[in-house]
Amino acid sequence: MNMLSFNKDLFTFLQTSTSPYHAVSNLASFFSQAGFKRLQETEKIQPNHEKFFLIRDDGSFICSKTHGDLASGFRILATHTDSPALQIKPQPDMYANSYHRLGVEVYGGPLLSTWFDRPLGIAGRVHWLKNTGEVTSSLFDSEKPVAVIPSLAIHLSQNEYKDKAVNKQKDILPLTGLDTNKKLSAYITENIEKNEGRPVKKILGSDLFLYDNSPPVLCGLNNEFIVGSRLDNLLSCYVSARAALSSPGEGNYIIICSNHEEIGSTTQSGADGNFLLSFLERLIPDQQERYQALAKSLLISVDNAHATHPSFSETHDQTHPVSLNRGPVIKKNANHRYATTSGTSSLFSMLAEMVNVEIQYFVMRNDMRCGSTIGPMTSAKLGIQTVDVGIPSLAMHSIQETTGVKDPWLMYTVLAEFLHRKQLPVLPSCI
Ligand code: ZN
Repeated sequence: MNMLSFNKDLFTFLQTSTSPYHAVSNLASFFSQAGFKRLQETEKIQPNHEKFFLIRDDGSFICSKTHGDLASGFRILATHTDSPALQIKPQPDMYANSYHRLGVEVYGGPLLSTWFDRPLGIAGRVHWLKNTGEVTSSLFDSEKPVAVIPSLAIHLSQNEYKDKAVNKQKDILPLTGLDTNKKLSAYITENIEKNEGRPVKKILGSDLFLYDNSPPVLCGLNNEFIVGSRLDNLLSCYVSARAALSSPGEGNYIIICSNHEEIGSTTQSGADGNFLLSFLERLIPDQQERYQALAKSLLISVDNAHATHPSFSETHDQTHPVSLNRGPVIKKNANHRYATTSGTSSLFSMLAEMVNVEIQYFVMRNDMRCGSTIGPMTSAKLGIQTVDVGIPSLAMHSIQETTGVKDPWLMYTVLAEFLHRKQLPVLPSCI
């Protein structure tokens, strides 16, 4: 595998992971093809399950590959499957001036101004009633643009509407057509019936999101950039999965890709829930042994990092510029909004050094609020050494984000080294 074929598959992953559920479905097929067995959380996990995965609430994925000696600890990669978006309300249909529109809620913190005038698809999951009276569920993807949020023309926006902030209730209602008798549920029903060849008695519930229907592209005079949707944090899901699946290593690893990071992670399937903890408890039921293994483990939390924006370089700490195509970013924060410590960043730097990859550092300016990610909460919950790293990107939370063409590959190279190495050095204590 080279960077070209790696990026080609990345583009397919990005384009088909139109919702967290679709991302998990793609991850499940990667790992199934590599011989991992899907188990249900309702099943008992036997010690002889060496390669398996679980899915929680369709949006979170966890897998492990073990070699019997669980006491030697785990190499853990943690990412998230969700991205900021617009979620469709339960009773979405609205009609005005002969338009059919949809009511939406804002999921997470999207840069709303970027959602205007884009071809939008609808994707997510739907629960529905079969004719037999059973409830079932399906992934849903319109696979074509079915909605648009039009801007107000500049000629009409000279007075009160000029340069105003986007009103989340009123301004972002997508138009879906001119049929004022049409309901979204009828469209969904038709599509599910067509795709599955089964009659739908009734749609009972859904988690559906709007997404940008345009595919990721290479961009730049020399193809230096990748521009695409949901790079935060599908890039990390993809590189982690590829690193795991290319690993012939003898170490035990766990890959967890959680839903709901963009809304704080405190959900049944989010990183602040017990998915990873319960997984570890099932792998090593004895508490003493589990704590011993965790003390020998290292978690790398992979979530995109801010590259320095050339037009707004004053928003970055001057002594820590971050460039595209120059290597993974270690994120550090004195107030531990990132879990990185001297020891864990040293381990990550050492891994990068082994594969000749340069490292960059991100710190937030002191006069700006620092974001956070799943690293600190997971580290605190499990008592596990953690480093927060990320692929550098511009325009985080825009509907189209930009990264360097080499950046996913460079991160993959370091993560593969992490999972491949025969032995991870134990972090020395200086006391
Ligand atoms: Zn993220």
